[in-house]
Amino acid sequence: MIGQLIDGTAIAAKLRAEVAISATALRERGIAPTLAVVLVGDDPASAVYVKAKTKAAREANVDVRDHKLPATTSQAELMALVAQLNADPAVDGILVQLPLPDHIDERVVTTRIDPDKDVDGFHPVNAGRLATGLYGFVPCTPLGCLMLLKDQLGDLAGLDAVVIGRSNIVGKPMAQLLIKESCTVTVAHSRTKDLSSLVRRADIVVAAVGRPEMIKGDWIKPGATVIDVGINRPTPLADGSNGGLVGDVDFAGAMQVAGAVTPVPGGVGPMTIACLLRNTLVSAHRRARVSYDKDAM
Ligand code: NDP
Repeated sequence: MIGQLIDGTAIAAKLRAEVAISATALRERGIAPTLAVVLVGDDPASAVYVKAKTKAAREANVDVRDHKLPATTSQAELMALVAQLNADPAVDGILVQLPLPDHIDERVVTTRIDPDKDVDGFHPVNAGRLATGLYGFVPCTPLGCLMLLKDQLGDLAGLDAVVIGRSNIVGKPMAQLLIKESCTVTVAHSRTKDLSSLVRRADIVVAAVGRPEMIKGDWIKPGATVIDVGINRPTPLADGSNGGLVGDVDFAGAMQVAGAVTPVPGGVGPMTIACLLRNTLVSAHRRARVSYDKDAM
């Protein structure tokens, strides 16, 4: 059996096009949806992510306010900027790109963002809203994973899901979203015993570990749907190239058994950016008290 490729690039393009239509409609009412993006320091990977997010936002008719701060920025200076963005009525969403330099406490900064502008969904208030079934912002990566799963499978109720990883930004919110969809959810982590047996029972596998190709093809239940969140840069090859990105799943092996698998790149990554824009649009609608029919999550 050869699994189906889940085309995250195409599904994300459709979502971004929907966002662009909604953004244009809001502009016709005199409201310009606006995302503030804060980048501290010169981490090359963060700079690439910020550039991709900024480009996608502008293409979707979302205004971007770039705040590039030097690596020497103090925690107090960053908090002052966050306070200013919280108070700015023109700003609908605030994104502080992580990781921050070591001298700044990410958790403190995250909790200073107004939860109603927290389009990344990392604020504890939004985590609590998700856990208790209240309306809030859902972190973009797990939201994108859920959209891919629903696009592939439709109703998820009653399916066995295993989420590998329990981080606050991927694993935990992913598990909450799947519980909300009435899946039976197991969350695995570094202390889990006999991970392969858990994976073998699962109709849905979401891998968010950060270990290249750790989930083997022969662990996968025949016909299962596999969402690979991992982005790993393998050790450089002899010629100095990095040999390309790989996920947490042995893609070739999984494709022999699974019903459908996301590739890396081209799976979850594009959905993360599209969901950031979608969350920004939801925020712009809420703040302008205009209903948005796609904000059911
Ligand atoms: P974290 O490092 O925060 O979490 C990794 C999780 O994996 C932890 O819960 C850890 O367990 C668990 N883990 C580690 N080793 C094992 C093991 N041997 N068996 C089972 N579980 C294990 O990572 P993130 O959640 O932030 O990210 C995970 C991956 O997803 C990374 O590759 C990251 O680059 C990628 N990513 C991709 C995004 C995208 O847009 N596509 C967005 C965000 C992340 P424990 O808690 O016990 O330590």
